[in-house]
Amino acid sequence: MRVLVTGGAGYIGSVIVEELLRAGHEATVYDSLARGHIDAVHPAAKLICGMVQDRALLAQQLRERSIEAVIHMAAFIEVGESVSRPELYFQNNVVGSLEVIRAMIDAGVKNLVFSSTAALYGDPERVPIQEDDVTAPTNPYGESKLIVERMLRWIAPAHGLTVTALRYFNAAGATAMNGEAHTPETHLIPNVLRAALTGAPLYLFGTDYPTKDGTCVRDYIHVLDLAQAHLLALGRTDAGLQIYNVGNGEGFTVREVMETAQRVTGRTLNIVTEPRRAGDQIATVASAAKIRRDLGWQPQHAGLDAIIGSAWAWQQAHPAGYQR
Ligand code: UDP
Repeated sequence: MRVLVTGGAGYIGSVIVEELLRAGHEATVYDSLARGHIDAVHPAAKLICGMVQDRALLAQQLRERSIEAVIHMAAFIEVGESVSRPELYFQNNVVGSLEVIRAMIDAGVKNLVFSSTAALYGDPERVPIQEDDVTAPTNPYGESKLIVERMLRWIAPAHGLTVTALRYFNAAGATAMNGEAHTPETHLIPNVLRAALTGAPLYLFGTDYPTKDGTCVRDYIHVLDLAQAHLLALGRTDAGLQIYNVGNGEGFTVREVMETAQRVTGRTLNIVTEPRRAGDQIATVASAAKIRRDLGWQPQHAGLDAIIGSAWAWQQAHPAGYQR
């Protein structure tokens, strides 16, 4: 299949491109490189440098390259930034997604995989969370993804599109080629591993949550298992929107992640406790029963030790991330 991946120079996008190519698909990366890395673009993928808001360029590329499916990953993803600058999130994530969808309609491309998020659930009434549970985001990032899903609910049937929204829980881990390197980095596991590598202080945001040790709970999913969910979604042929959680169904507190990282790396962390970070959800754990049942998704790298171990190997091999 000829697949265009917006955000294909980002962390999850670069791994999806690796897996698409391994499975024999053709991959075109469409990325502004504002937050992605040119060195994360697979040498066998074509790179188009462009903004998701540029509908004309996107439609032209979709036509010229006879694209059959789009994986739309390009988005701003930082919870804290979304609280302080919500307008950026609605512009880039909502308006940008609408332009991608309209470019697909213009070019007659029918298959879309949309990267959504567990952030749209807010503080859930129960865990594990199922797809039809209440959505009440606690931050503009989650709200921006929820708005796009709601648009897709109307647009998919109107234009006969096959749309799969994958609600990611916490992507983590690395392949030999690609790992997590955002600037600035706000995510827990890369921050923990950088602190392990350099001895720098590690900030722990919030120790008074109603959880077993007072810190937030997350469901960490290996980026390779997440990538496989996209490949399976590309195989759907029925029209309409389907929504799937993608997570392992096991929650770990922030302190448990830090303890596991100390064990895996053999380093002692210099943990500094801080107040809560604005917009954080207390606990998110997925029920992934629906994607297992409908698409036959089976995670292969589920253990937290293995996830952190793969990220640690990448971090040691790339201490400066993708910076040259
Ligand atoms: N977190 C932390 N220190 C960090 C980065 C994150 O204590 O340096 C906490 C954060 O407040 C949240 C959890 O780790 O409770 C997961 O945060 P992350 O940004 O990795 O994921 P998300 O907020 O998207 O679930």
